[in-house]
Amino acid sequence: MKTIGVIGAGTMGNGIAHTFAQYGYQVALIDVSEESLKKAIATIGNNLDRIIAKGKLTEADKTKTLSRIKTFTKLEQAIGNCDLVIEAATENMEIKLNIFRQLDQLCSSQTILASNTSSISITKIASVTKRADKVIGMHFMNPVPVMKLVEVIRGYKTSDATTETIMTLSKSLEKTPVEVNDYPGFVANRILMPMINEAIYSLYEGVAGVEEIDTVMKLGMAHPMGPLQLADFIGLDVCLSILNVLHDGFGNPKYAPCPLLVNMVTAGNLGVKTKEGFYAYQSGTKELKVSSLFLHK
Ligand code: NAD
Repeated sequence: MKTIGVIGAGTMGNGIAHTFAQYGYQVALIDVSEESLKKAIATIGNNLDRIIAKGKLTEADKTKTLSRIKTFTKLEQAIGNCDLVIEAATENMEIKLNIFRQLDQLCSSQTILASNTSSISITKIASVTKRADKVIGMHFMNPVPVMKLVEVIRGYKTSDATTETIMTLSKSLEKTPVEVNDYPGFVANRILMPMINEAIYSLYEGVAGVEEIDTVMKLGMAHPMGPLQLADFIGLDVCLSILNVLHDGFGNPKYAPCPLLVNMVTAGNLGVKTKEGFYAYQSGTKELKVSSLFLHK
């Protein structure tokens, strides 16, 4: 594999492009938004500077890494010579199905098509292509250049050869791939989201406050971040949509999203990205302050 297409230049897409380019792959980064592409290149530059500051990369490595990434706004300009395409566009079924229909037409029959989706069925995505054996989930964790795990998701028809190629490729990025089957939430979110939901229920039912719940999980279970802070970091809208996938997919009431989570998303308090969730975030400070809505509760 030499050339990797990455579709979507948001939080995950820029991290995926960065990682492949740093490990010597040519990257075609595609987004419908010119602004997202510009922001992505600036973010990658800043993140490379951080690695340089830690003494793990040189200025020359940064120049080479950035020179390997080319940006495009149209699929057809970019995708023809890619050996692998990783889709990391917005988590929306219609958007993803449309992208995969186009990829199936535009890419060589040998090209593997992967999705970084957090929750949408790989089997469903594969079903709109004529190469279901070459469609696979490649679920990176945020922030991609730092996190070691890649959850490799086999759709119903994904072949052994495709899976092996993606496992080997992930190792070439010094990641640890873990193979899982295609069921709602895969493994990571099937376990993580009920824990976050239960933390929100504990707050909603008045068992304890925001800081108390997070402190119990940080100090008691050695989690680096409490579940409520982690939910703010992931985005409460994203957490709600994954819980809905689990709830719909299994039909089990244990996955029903907490009404407090639903209310917060409806009110637009989505966590770090809107500067308020369980905590309030001010730019320029790393100090964690509980949102005023949860004080005295
Ligand atoms: P994001 O909103 O930051 O970025 C999505 C990007 O996709 C945007 O720049 C948007 O312009 C672009 N886009 C939308 N439609 C497009 C199209 N048709 N063609 C090309 N680009 C298009 O989203 P994100 O957080 O980077 O999430 C991307 C994917 O990664 C989702 O499937 C999400 O579930 C998954 N994911 C996210 C996280 C996370 O922590 N954010 C973790 C793991 C997986």
